[in-house]
Amino acid sequence: MTDFSQFSESLKARLAALEARLVTLDAETTQRLDTDSEERANELEDLATNEGLETAAVSELGQIRAALDRIKDGSYGHCSKCGGRIAEARLIALPTATTCINCAT
Ligand SMILES: [Zn+2]
Repeated sequence: MTDFSQFSESLKARLAALEARLVTLDAETTQRLDTDSEERANELEDLATNEGLETAAVSELGQIRAALDRIKDGSYGHCSKCGGRIAEARLIALPTATTCINCAT
């Protein structure tokens, strides 16, 4: 059995970083808006940006948790489409990859 502990460690580190990022984004998003209208327009723009970042972070969190689950149940590193092995270089570049390079669309 291949040892995926290095991937597990880096995925967990990424997970912790994303969770910390989400806490920061949440804090910024719930900040009271400035009463000055020009400032408020800028802040609303920031909030829209934050929401986009938050959505991306939440979706990545889900992928990382799924990858950690696959490491646990032994299906990590196997392509979900053809069942073949996912090349280690691909996993290093994209630890949350669920398909091999041939099946990736
Ligand atoms: Zn495949």
